[in-house]
Amino acid sequence: QAKDLGRNTYSFFSKEMNTMMLRRFELEEQMHGALERNEFELYYQPQFDVKKQKIMGVEALLRWHNSALGNVTPDEFIPIAEHTGLIIPIGRFVIKQALMFLNEWQNTHHRKVTMAVNLSPCQFRDSELLSFIKSSLKETNVSADNLELEITEGVLMSGQSHIHDALIEISALGIKLSMDDFGTGYSSLSYLRQYAFDVLKIDQSFISGIPLNKADSELVNTIIAMAHSLGLTVVAEGVETKEQLKLLEELGCDLVQGYYFSKPIKARHLIDFSVNYM
Ligand code: C2E
Ligand code: MG
Ligand code: MG
Ligand code: MG
Repeated sequence: QAKDLGRNTYSFFSKEMNTMMLRRFELEEQMHGALERNEFELYYQPQFDVKKQKIMGVEALLRWHNSALGNVTPDEFIPIAEHTGLIIPIGRFVIKQALMFLNEWQNTHHRKVTMAVNLSPCQFRDSELLSFIKSSLKETNVSADNLELEITEGVLMSGQSHIHDALIEISALGIKLSMDDFGTGYSSLSYLRQYAFDVLKIDQSFISGIPLNKADSELVNTIIAMAHSLGLTVVAEGVETKEQLKLLEELGCDLVQGYYFSKPIKARHLIDFSVNYM
């Protein structure tokens, strides 16, 4: 019986694994050529100043629309892009596109706004990354301090020297560094100091519990105080309710990003939407 059970269990997992591998294979196959077919689109999610209730910047978030697969979420396709190395050309597309849009958006008003772009650890393997960013800034007429690069703690953990050098160079250029998903990895204060981070983003998983969960509220309070003592701007991710916003304001959080104000939206929607919050 144990043997039968074992066999059933085996075939059950093998079927699941088969489905998973097939899906992965399909995604990989479709991803080659997706850039050429123009299937990627950037959405933008505004970041609001808590006190002024004005838009201070946006985060660029990548979307993939494919005719065979439908819409694929970044949580599914980014790991595959990283695995195949396609994250390099896709990541360049994101940087260029985001900066082009920032230039266009800034031409419609006269206040300085920030464009935050997510960088995958794999993109640091591209030895031309920095020169690509520099030339993109120049071509799009965007000044370096309007660009913010979001990286996660995982990037720093690897301790690789080329990443170290790239981060130093990014800061030296005047580009802002943002620590994404803070609190989910092996958060280390020393990283924040060592690399002159400008922004700390408190992960959504801490925000979702506040204000009712006292432990989470206390933690968020501590993170904000700590970040401020290091001179960092604090962004709360995934703010969905008025109650969350109210507590974050009381705790002195600088910026909020989340469905309460806006989901990530298409470029032209952002231009319309932001008019009222400039
Ligand atoms: P992230 O950088 O931490 O982005 C925040 C995620 O939270 C986004 O998911 C956003 O849509 C979602 N979000 C924002 N506000 C709320 C809210 O109030 N409630 C809820 N439930 N969710 C909210 P998205 O767009 O699916 O992206 C997921 C992750 O994929 C990103 O997490 C980022 O790590 C990665 N990603 C997205 N675009 C890019 C990209 O261009 N390059 C790279 N390397 N990674 C990207
Ligand atoms: Mg991010
Ligand atoms: Mg995040
Ligand atoms: Mg995330």
